Amino acid sequence: MRTHRIITIVGGGLVGSLCAIMLGNRGYTVHVFDRRRDVRTYGGERGRSINLALSHRGVRALQEAGISAQIDTIGVPMRGRMIHYTDGSMVFQPYGKDGEAIYSVSRAALNQLLLNAAEQHPHVHLHFEECCCDVDVATARALFTRADGSTHSVSADCVIGADGAYSVVRGVMQKYGRFNYEQHYLEHGYKELTIPSSPNGTWVLEPNALHIWPRGRYMFIALPNVDGSFTCTLFLPFESTRDDEPSFEDLHSAESIHNFFCQAFPDVVQYMPHFVEEFIAHPTSTLITIRCTPWFYQDRVMLIGDAAHAIVPFYGQGMNAGFEDCRIFSELLAQYHDNWLQALREYHTQRKPNADAIAHLAMQNFVEMSERVADPMFLLRKRIEQHCHTLYPHAFIPVYSMVTFSHIPYVEALQEMERQEAVLNRIMCLERIKERWNTPEGEETIRSILRDAGYAV
Ligand SMILES: Cc1cc2nc3c(=O)[nH]c(=O)nc-3n(C[C@H](O)[C@H](O)[C@H](O)COP(=O)(O)OP(=O)(O)OC[C@H]3O[C@@H](n4cnc5c(N)ncnc54)[C@H](O)[C@@H]3O)c2cc1C
Repeated sequence: MRTHRIITIVGGGLVGSLCAIMLGNRGYTVHVFDRRRDVRTYGGERGRSINLALSHRGVRALQEAGISAQIDTIGVPMRGRMIHYTDGSMVFQPYGKDGEAIYSVSRAALNQLLLNAAEQHPHVHLHFEECCCDVDVATARALFTRADGSTHSVSADCVIGADGAYSVVRGVMQKYGRFNYEQHYLEHGYKELTIPSSPNGTWVLEPNALHIWPRGRYMFIALPNVDGSFTCTLFLPFESTRDDEPSFEDLHSAESIHNFFCQAFPDVVQYMPHFVEEFIAHPTSTLITIRCTPWFYQDRVMLIGDAAHAIVPFYGQGMNAGFEDCRIFSELLAQYHDNWLQALREYHTQRKPNADAIAHLAMQNFVEMSERVADPMFLLRKRIEQHCHTLYPHAFIPVYSMVTFSHIPYVEALQEMERQEAVLNRIMCLERIKERWNTPEGEETIRSILRDAGYAV
């Protein structure tokens, strides 16, 4: 067995910096290289989501790395979805029970927190403005270009590609072994806008919710920030496929942008004094799903986070899944007494199917967020689903809760989705379900449907 001591991590983003801390905690000497300037000196780049939903999987990984204490200072708890209809009415739909919440955290603040913790670690060394341009996978030697154009190579026992969806490390691996790779761009793009805080620094909408304006083929969402503002994202097709379908292509002038927002999201424009200027100034970004295999080459190179499995953001799980990769890989190193090849094989065996499952769930959730939540019968279905969970908390766990508030493997959540869909379809077909669902008689009928489907209730 080769003894690993020195590790190169390419990418000091969210996943790379957490991975560095975890490996540092296991006694490895870790060098992290990032092509960007140090995010702590300028506050982060535009064009990526400014805030992210952090849920249980992410929190658990941060806890295990010993850095969860400050989450409250950089995040706002969101206890459910606030759905905004075109007529201005709203409905709140809780995510879980007993105030379970996900956190809206600032990407830059979380990255800064992780980099501070990494920097304070005696075994971790950070290097910025060093862009990886090549890796010799057989020897784990990586080549970097500095800001002045000079290059240098770095030797290590293993190179970890934590360099995101457009990973250079993955690009190199594609030339070795039987590496499979697949990428898929969504026909939707996204653009970020802002709802500023009120003059006294408070939120102008309910702060403890993820706001959604579902409009079928497109949607607008808003996540709260600790400073009283909201970061909003418009998800819209790049090009229209029908005459009546809006697209980014159509929004080419101040007037068309203004008219579109006033028509589609009339209740929110009053809170966005600069939305037209922001719309023109901010980039329209793409959304990509990446599947590849295997995620390692011998015990010399491995992929983690978006480099291994970029997904669309509609389940709020990309970062959470990447953080879970870090936790599970660290646990496997412990389990296999730091035998990297064994740990890597098991890491890939465990994580790859789960990454594929959450990629699938994330695509499905776009339809739920943009379309289904606007349907009153769907909201009733969600209430019944939650009621089943309250009645049978161990036997019936809604898929959203499995993904967001548990560490149950994503694969199991995906399998459960089909079973629950079938059960809820049957329940929703019951006569007068709206009046009956929470009566003793209705509950008994629901119980027998659950039993039929194999639930131990
Ligand atoms: C609109 C949107 C909303 C999202 N919302 C959520 C959410 O709510 N919840 C959630 O969990 N996830 C969310 N995600 C997903 C999340 O952003 C990613 O999963 C997460 O950022 C992945 O982290 P990473 O460290 O693997 O990659 P990245 O964050 O992409 O970091 C990669 C790092 O590598 C560096 N790098 C790249 N190439 C090189 C190179 N050649 N040399 C050196 N350094 C390099 C980059 O500078 C960067 O610092 C969202 C994504 C998008 C696009």
